[in-house]
Amino acid sequence: MKKKKKAVVQAILIYVVFCGVLCFSAPLTGKKIFIDPGHGGSDPGAVGPTGLKESNVNLQTSLKLKDFLVNTGGAQTILSRESDIYPTLADRVNAANNWSADRFISVHYNASSDRNVNGTETLYYTYGSETSKDLAQKLQNRLVETLGLTNRGIKPRDDLYVLKNTKMPAALTESSFISNTYEEARLKNSDYIIKIGRAHYYGIADHFGVDPNPPAPPPEPSKPLSGKIFAIDPQSGGSSKGSIGPTGLYAKDVNLRVATVLKNNLADYGGATIIMTRSEDVSVTSTKRIEIINGSNADRLVSIAFPGSTNPDTNYTKTFYYENYSSKSSTSKDLAAKVQARLVEALNLTNKGVGKSSAAILVQTNMPGIITKPSHITNPYEEARLKDAAYTWKIGRYIYLGIADHYGVNP
Ligand SMILES: [Zn+2]
Repeated sequence: MKKKKKAVVQAILIYVVFCGVLCFSAPLTGKKIFIDPGHGGSDPGAVGPTGLKESNVNLQTSLKLKDFLVNTGGAQTILSRESDIYPTLADRVNAANNWSADRFISVHYNASSDRNVNGTETLYYTYGSETSKDLAQKLQNRLVETLGLTNRGIKPRDDLYVLKNTKMPAALTESSFISNTYEEARLKNSDYIIKIGRAHYYGIADHFGVDPNPPAPPPEPSKPLSGKIFAIDPQSGGSSKGSIGPTGLYAKDVNLRVATVLKNNLADYGGATIIMTRSEDVSVTSTKRIEIINGSNADRLVSIAFPGSTNPDTNYTKTFYYENYSSKSSTSKDLAAKVQARLVEALNLTNKGVGKSSAAILVQTNMPGIITKPSHITNPYEEARLKDAAYTWKIGRYIYLGIADHYGVNP
């Protein structure tokens, strides 16, 4: 059962790593789409009843289309213009032909002397390919669906320079009539322009027979302690050395090494957020530690100390919690018991169980917390073991396992 679970997790990881390239490529990757915002500069194109210029609306629509093609579709694009200038029709066609674009889309809005006329039409070259006609039809379908205006259909034209002279399949959209009073007002709304740009993008995707929305990658497998915050407190530090071993090993250093291992395990395997009261060899007052811990909004506090004894033979494992009358006491006791059990398993020393403590770090902090005392640095045998990085790693790792047990999660 455990093996099976591991295999599933591995399969998901392999999928996530390799699918970045293979499975989630954007739908229009590798396609070169040339976008031609009609008119510009000295040529405003049609002008709406209150003065809105077609050239500007063409450009804005084209820029939105570009966003969708590049950012969602993964296509390459070139625009004939990206500002209010006038490239000649020949400039536009030459740019598209020289680039060897796969498709050419010219973006326009229509006009009529009758202010009541509105509707959508898309033009293609009369003597062009079936591919051009299909492109026009797919654009037209999406524009009609999105704008909800009269469907004036796709129309063959033999007199439009850009459609006639481009070497690749091409279409020219007339999404709506800028001369229509109601429509001109809508065209001033940027959300509406985004919709029209998206409709163009969808039409292009339909034409290529692809789903315009690339599949979302699967969510990252969540880690067992994601969202949890832990405060870790390596006791002593700086001028406060803590207990000292027979050959001069300082508890402050062992405390920090084990705390760092615990931190890395909680973050890397647990996915938790960690706040340390110190992460280097510095003195931190008890008041400051409590301030850091309470400011962290941590869910749990783990304080780490390697104690000493006047009797060098003394060596055992014990974990402390503060039992008061608040709701955090039973939780603290459970955390202490779970960490204690794992430490006994890892260190194989005398099990002195869990005990009550009224240390300030437990009394004055707001969350359930423990002080773990894995072993005695004053014991010569133990001091020798504590100099071994593999051993202190194991201690930090097993405190992490105890925390996972406390939460009932798979570490
Ligand atoms: Zn025009």
